Amino acid sequence: MSTTRRRTKAPRTAPALHPNRAVDAEVRRAWGRLSAEIRACRRCPLGDLRTHAVVYRGGLAPRVVFVGEAPGAEEDRTGVPFVGRSGRELDRAVATLGLSDEDFGVLNTLKCRPPGNRFDPSAARTCRPYLDRQLELLHPEVVVTLGARALAAIDPTALPMLSAAGRPRAHGGITLFPLIHPAAALRSRRLRERWERDVRVLDQWLAERLA
Ligand code: SF4
Repeated sequence: MSTTRRRTKAPRTAPALHPNRAVDAEVRRAWGRLSAEIRACRRCPLGDLRTHAVVYRGGLAPRVVFVGEAPGAEEDRTGVPFVGRSGRELDRAVATLGLSDEDFGVLNTLKCRPPGNRFDPSAARTCRPYLDRQLELLHPEVVVTLGARALAAIDPTALPMLSAAGRPRAHGGITLFPLIHPAAALRSRRLRERWERDVRVLDQWLAERLA
């Protein structure tokens, strides 16, 4: 199966299953306050180096939240997460999952671009409370981490990436579903096959939640 060739599904929605489906006004207000706080943040040195803090794209009552590592150059320029090549790969996967625009969201563990795209663990620790507050407000059914650093940021005790990928499990009150980073699928045939296999497992997992 190729995610590039697979037919896009009709949107799959699950209003009855989602506890936060109807986003109330207080959640919208809290989300707006949190987003403004992130955009103004200077808690770590990356705040003085960024063009834009990269907060989120997606619905406010998503079934699935994808968590990446850190913004790249295009994200820093636009302020929107996953808009480059790996973002297009992720969007193809989202289409195969049949998720509507409101049913998924994308964010990063680190909100500001590290110089040279070198992940900064110290900044990630400083930034971590924002991720926790975002996930608490979004309250998705499943948190899909993209890549080893995103997985480690949420679960430092997780198995190595290729052992953890494609295996949903409970962690700290959320369901975690690790995937390799979509950029990896662009690097080798072997990793593309692994990416597509694990996206199919996620597809099946979501389908079983609706059954
Ligand atoms: S990376 Fe996070 S903690 Fe650092 S300035 Fe940006 S938003 Fe603030």
